[in-house]
Amino acid sequence: MTLDAVKQKSRKKAGRRAFEANILDGLTDAVILIDENKIFVDGNAAAFDLLGSESKGLGLAVVFDGGDVVEAVDAVLKGGQERQGEIQLPPPVSRICEMRVIELPARNPENAAWIMLVLRDVTDARKTEQMRADFVSNVSHEFRSPVSSLLGFIETLQGPAHDDAEARDRFLGIMEGEARRMAYLVNDLLILSQVEAEEHIQPNETVDISEVLGEISTILSSRAAERDMNIDLVMPEDLPAIAADKDELIQVFRNLIDNAINYGTHGSTIQIRAEDQGQVFETSEAMLAVSVTNQGPGIKQEDIQRLTERFYRVDKGRSRATGGTGLGLAIVKHIVGRHRGILDIQSTMGESTMGESTTFSVKLPTIQPPA
Ligand code: ATP
Ligand code: MG
Repeated sequence: MTLDAVKQKSRKKAGRRAFEANILDGLTDAVILIDENKIFVDGNAAAFDLLGSESKGLGLAVVFDGGDVVEAVDAVLKGGQERQGEIQLPPPVSRICEMRVIELPARNPENAAWIMLVLRDVTDARKTEQMRADFVSNVSHEFRSPVSSLLGFIETLQGPAHDDAEARDRFLGIMEGEARRMAYLVNDLLILSQVEAEEHIQPNETVDISEVLGEISTILSSRAAERDMNIDLVMPEDLPAIAADKDELIQVFRNLIDNAINYGTHGSTIQIRAEDQGQVFETSEAMLAVSVTNQGPGIKQEDIQRLTERFYRVDKGRSRATGGTGLGLAIVKHIVGRHRGILDIQSTMGESTMGESTTFSVKLPTIQPPA
């Protein structure tokens, strides 16, 4: 073979290696090459992203903190079949990965076989599965109590209370309440699934927020009056319009004001403030802010962080007594998300000598008039 031919062959080989490396770096799965001494010889870009570039050259027992990976690689090196499984990477990475351990053919007869370890990060998928399972279990739990209460009363009415007109009226009243609670639940679950499905579509109706707030305050003022509360609405006349879905915004502020009535102190005032904030720091966009403040028991910081989770209630008894499903703020969060807005919750738990207060504020992007 001439020197030129050798050079050309080695250039071709180097070119092929670079091509293979590019292909491997394009994969989202981590691909790791392991020698017969269980050393991490090399990896693709995803492998270094997952395990850190300092892993190269280290023993597997160090990189993976012993465990299932080392065991699987050992088994395959001893001539076993391809191995698969699910592993949790050691902290601080702590990701959950699907693992495949595959024997690579020996590169020449006297070389021992090497191993290819492929890791696919499935942490997000597992989280979503867990959330789905939790949701189904929560929904079943929420329905279980009204259903068993209804069955109990039906049995009593068919049996001991059959001829007791007074008990019958009382029980029917309770049964109506339980049936209504289930109807609210079904309704809120449907709304939640609808707003979740549409969250990526930005709404485009031009909405005057002062009209929305005015309407809701009027509708809810009689419910507030039942608890000797009044609603104080303060907003400038020239608020900018927003691109929104009016019905969804009505749901947002209806739930926030409803909560202020339900959880606020008897006889206190609920304050609603709306103002144009101009360009805000969080989004660098022009936004308006609407805040709903009530006097009340205040909410602890650890509860505030979880308030928008489905079915999360601080005081379960109180929420149930007011017919609450615990889905209101989850719906609010998704609607605000769809409007590319910001939901903020502040509560003066233990900070104020004037009594506690809670403020829910919603910032929404405004429509800018053409320059
Ligand atoms: P619904 O689905 O009918 O709205 P809900 O009011 O119980 O039921 P959310 O609106 O999601 O559900 O509120 C969740 C929980 O947050 C409530 O159960 C209550 O414990 C707490 N909460 C909400 N607003 C306030 C408030 N203004 N002050 C104190 N606690 C509040
Ligand atoms: Mg509510």
